[in-house]
Amino acid sequence: MKKTKSKSKSKTKPVSQLRQDIVTGDWVIIATGRSKKPNDFIKEKPQKTDQDSSQSQLENCPFCYPTIEKQKPDTLIYYKKDKEWSLRVFPNKFPALTRKQKTKEYNRGIYLSLDGTGFHEVIVTRDHERGVPQLLKEEVAEVIDSFKTRYLDLMKKRGVKYILFIENHGEKSGASVVHPHWQIFAIPVISPGVRLELEGSKRYQDANKTCVYCDMIEQEIKTKKRIVAKNRSFVAFCPYASRSAFEVWILPRVHQPYFERISETQELEAAAILKKVLERYYHKLNDIPYNMYLHTSPCNGEDYRHYHWHIELLPKTSIWAGFELGTGIEISTIEPQKAAQFLKKS
Ligand SMILES: [Zn+2]
Ligand SMILES: [Zn+2]
Repeated sequence: MKKTKSKSKSKTKPVSQLRQDIVTGDWVIIATGRSKKPNDFIKEKPQKTDQDSSQSQLENCPFCYPTIEKQKPDTLIYYKKDKEWSLRVFPNKFPALTRKQKTKEYNRGIYLSLDGTGFHEVIVTRDHERGVPQLLKEEVAEVIDSFKTRYLDLMKKRGVKYILFIENHGEKSGASVVHPHWQIFAIPVISPGVRLELEGSKRYQDANKTCVYCDMIEQEIKTKKRIVAKNRSFVAFCPYASRSAFEVWILPRVHQPYFERISETQELEAAAILKKVLERYYHKLNDIPYNMYLHTSPCNGEDYRHYHWHIELLPKTSIWAGFELGTGIEISTIEPQKAAQFLKKS
């Protein structure tokens, strides 16, 4: 059961700014509302282990009791049969972007910046100790349904051009709270990473008259080498050019450019395959930290029928060092085929 709450008006001033790199066209967000004075960066203590922090996090968890912890009002809430909540979505307390009607542009000499307008929300499932591997398939499907429901609402907001869903799992992946949660970013620009995929798939479509992702799925299913799991609607495989060890992509098997058009049956099958992959990360790779994100077509009114939405899962197996930062080339230390075979065996 789900219920969408009425919108709450916010008069907060923008605390963040999008700045464009004049050479590469890349965007960065300067989110001063989230941080800190220069000294705060220096004083940071060495990171605790995942275990230490998980204990103290359970005691002071901001997501176990969102109302007591004074989280912002829910934008979406799901209830269980016993009327207890099972999942809720609310604006991030420390947003990287701020709500504002209009996105203004600023030119400072040769530089361009925009107001960091947009929406930054958090999706939280009820139980502190139960992540995707421990949740029922139906409970994971609820998470996917919340993605879709929030997408359909946020895509109508003025100035929103792209909506991204992410999960950071484990401290090393950047997660600051242990409690299972996902984040939604609705932003006024299309990021360069997404643009590369949109342009690359358009180029392939123009040259071959087919979808590059559909062709990848066909080849992966035919060769079987890199398949981790599959069901009627989805396939999960380690990509041929994996950037990190045990990287996995999950794609709908039928061409589908727009995630928000996912059906209820597909939600359940997406949940089943995501759960399966994350169970393997949990049991076979000892709960490895990872970053998950969902790539779909932008919601800026343009035609993206050539694109194919998908989920990317990147275990945090190494840190970007000088070579990676200097070249943008990542070094993965296991052959994708071997990684897939390892993950495939239950
Ligand atoms: Zn909690
Ligand atoms: Zn396709």
